[in-house]
Amino acid sequence: MKIGVLALQGAFVEHEKILNALGAEAVQVRLPTDLEGLDGLIIPGGESTTIGQLAATFGLIEPLRAFARSKPTWGTCAGMIFLAKDIGSDRQPLLGLMDVTVNRNAFGRQIDSFETDLDVPKLGDAPFHAVFIRAPLVTATGEGVETLASLPDGRIVAVEQGHLLATAFHPELTSDHRFHAYFLAQIRAGQKSSAGSA
Ligand code: GLN
Repeated sequence: MKIGVLALQGAFVEHEKILNALGAEAVQVRLPTDLEGLDGLIIPGGESTTIGQLAATFGLIEPLRAFARSKPTWGTCAGMIFLAKDIGSDRQPLLGLMDVTVNRNAFGRQIDSFETDLDVPKLGDAPFHAVFIRAPLVTATGEGVETLASLPDGRIVAVEQGHLLATAFHPELTSDHRFHAYFLAQIRAGQKSSAGSA
């Protein structure tokens, strides 16, 4: 399986290491042609304004949009912001594909970075240790968006909409690889069902 990791800025190397550890081939994506032949794509954390501006500069916005419209794509933190339809501002380029409203830097200055154990039923019973760094929050979800994890007070931090996945935290910064394994399993399952219907 070949998985692209958008490598414009941010924590892309960490994603690559985990993908390789799980037996997938990780490919750095910097140009539209890098998307060819990929089974899925991860948009890493970093600074969503920078990632958006660099994507625009390299002519990547439309190719990324076209890719993520049909292929499994997972955004972590800044990647979640970049995937969202609505961030309450039109001052930065977005792919605008996931039917969610996202609030950037939602935790303010006092606790802009923190770690906590999350209950993520799709990953099994053991809690998932989540690292939040100047993280966004999902403040509204549209039809067809499933919540995968929330903070104890109900604020949403992981969502899925068909083949699109988004997490407000950084699963690539811990040694728990279950979120990456889940993404790869979803890709495999999708490939099987589309092969079955062909
Ligand atoms: N605060 C960043 C943004 O708005 C996201 C932080 C992150 O990806 N860790 O893009």
